[in-house]
Amino acid sequence: MRAVCWEAPRKIAVEQRPRPLITDPTDAVLRITSTAICGSDLHLYLGSAPGVQKGDILGHEFMGIVEAVGPEVRNVRPGDRVVASFDIACGKCRSCGHGAFSGCDSTNPSKDQEMMYGARTAGLFGYAHVTGGYEGGQADYVRVPFADVNLLHVPSDLPDNKLLFLSDIMSTAWFSTDLGQVGPGMNVAIWGAGPVGLLAAHCCQVRGADKVLLIDNHQYRLDHAAAKVPGLHTINFDKEKVKEVIERILPGGPDVCIEAVGFHYCKSMIHAAMVKTLMETDTADILNECIYCCRKGGAIACVGVYVGLVNGFNIGAFMEKGLTMKAGQTPVQKYWHQLLDMIKSGKLDPTIVITHEMPLEDAPHAYKIFNDKTDGCIKVVLKTGV
Ligand code: NAD
Ligand code: ZN
Repeated sequence: MRAVCWEAPRKIAVEQRPRPLITDPTDAVLRITSTAICGSDLHLYLGSAPGVQKGDILGHEFMGIVEAVGPEVRNVRPGDRVVASFDIACGKCRSCGHGAFSGCDSTNPSKDQEMMYGARTAGLFGYAHVTGGYEGGQADYVRVPFADVNLLHVPSDLPDNKLLFLSDIMSTAWFSTDLGQVGPGMNVAIWGAGPVGLLAAHCCQVRGADKVLLIDNHQYRLDHAAAKVPGLHTINFDKEKVKEVIERILPGGPDVCIEAVGFHYCKSMIHAAMVKTLMETDTADILNECIYCCRKGGAIACVGVYVGLVNGFNIGAFMEKGLTMKAGQTPVQKYWHQLLDMIKSGKLDPTIVITHEMPLEDAPHAYKIFNDKTDGCIKVVLKTGV
């Protein structure tokens, strides 16, 4: 089968690999129909996140048709159309029992993540050896452990592009608004007009927010967002001072600030992966901007990915303003049923982020334009055509 593999920083190749097999009785094997490139893949692409090795199969956002199941799988059958969650949960441990599927205690056997991040997540598809070394879904086929927990059966009358992002960014955008408890009449500022930030803006409107502001420095992304989310205010931080504009539109600051950017955009990084110690990011510029802009007593929801220590985090201002901050990898399985219903009813439209659709073979080009923010790229969907 074909698989999109990491070769070296900024180097991706489509290689021939053996088809995955059922190895545990709770596994399923999927024939993938659509898969996407996520902002989290860029941390690997750039070589910023640790633990990725030459030849690793990438991809954690995918859907397809069940090809085979192990003898203990009950909820899905060969031929079913399904979406996979990016985090691999067992469904039985203490964390899964609390709905914290992204922190599943038993699917990530690697000790390295604890060493470099100071904490361990669930196993993740296609996300390096620190998260379990699972093969990813940017391929023709993939093995899905604990299929009953990590696959969502989806209806046949909706196209892939409406359903695919339940596996990650649609769920993550909703999660960010849930972390911030965004509700009717509230005002929200969102950092990052990538796919996650744009869908978060969409979710804020669906939850009845009043004013929603979106911050980035790529004007084409802000323009696209403004066209897709009517009433959205956009701020280009290369042209305007973020705090000044926010103060003008929302005196006293937004109720909720959403961080949908992540550590590799921070001003400088210390790459500690090689020395096997906690990784450090040298500035907390984006999180601090959230702290400075948020109204007193407000909330920060951080879904942008951070790795290890972040220097210069202004805990003093955070404390004096009485803010709350919640963060996390998305527990996809907690949200996807309700989100599927909202997609079915037309309330949510995840397709607003898609700017490119390409065959799987074009993955190297797709990674390049998504990372470089060229060719008007916001979100690429790769089609296997199998
Ligand atoms: P993306 O890289 O396309 O989007 C990030 C955007 O932030 C870019 O448009 C960039 O120009 C903008 N940006 C950079 N610096 C900024 C600043 N100082 N202020 C405002 N905007 C700035 O990626 P994406 O797919 O939208 O993902 C966003 C983040 O969410 C990434 O860190 C990704 O890893 C993370 N993510 C987290 C989860 C989760 O479960 N928590 C899931 C998916 C993605
Ligand atoms: Zn992702």
